[in-house]
Amino acid sequence: MSPLGILGGTFDPIHFGHLRTAFELLQALRLAELRLVPAGNPPHRDTPLCDAEHRLAMVRAAIADQPGFVVDDREIRREGPSYTVLTLRELRDEAPARPICLLVGMDAFLGLPQWHEWRELLELAHVVVAHRPGWTAPRDGTLGELLAARGTSHVQDLHESVAGRVHVRPVTPLEISSTGLRELIVAGEDPRYLLPDAVRAIIHDTGCYRPRATR
Ligand code: ATP
Repeated sequence: MSPLGILGGTFDPIHFGHLRTAFELLQALRLAELRLVPAGNPPHRDTPLCDAEHRLAMVRAAIADQPGFVVDDREIRREGPSYTVLTLRELRDEAPARPICLLVGMDAFLGLPQWHEWRELLELAHVVVAHRPGWTAPRDGTLGELLAARGTSHVQDLHESVAGRVHVRPVTPLEISSTGLRELIVAGEDPRYLLPDAVRAIIHDTGCYRPRATR
């Protein structure tokens, strides 16, 4: 059975680094579907600058014409911190026999041991690590050991079991970050060509990155 891909993120805002990575992984991993899951209350970082409703609208607009891409808003609807393990447990209950691939950038993978109940993530899904510019795969420590024990370079392994493997995959490096985009937008500059035009239009029309008092 083809795997379900999950790309969680704050998406504050979504940009071409997310979208190109997701698109390349959809094809390279032969995913049945790629779900983008915007976080409601991300537990490991500051409150998003833009509210959940507009971040969700931007993700919807960004993927509107791409077959195979789906927005999953469960973390925004759920109360409490957006723990990935809760989302994966729900998805596993919904599709007990389907492989699930949790897609993360290398920067996110390096922080994995700080995630809530992180070892259970590997019981529920495979982890696919997209190479991001400027980050290298760990060779030792907890994650180095994890890669040695669970790592595979074969996509087929992600189809033949439902969870538990780690696959590191190079993607086209696009050095775009939401942090950089927020700084640029707040400074009054134009984010054009770093994110989809439909997302740029939402940012412009809603003023969702203006100081709250002036929106
Ligand atoms: P911020 O700068 O606010 O931390 P971000 O640009 O890293 O945001 P997130 O929404 O936090 O975006 O990221 C969601 C996921 O997408 C993470 O797994 C992250 O590693 C990955 N990701 C983000 N930007 C890129 C990029 N340019 N190339 C590849 N993966 C990316």
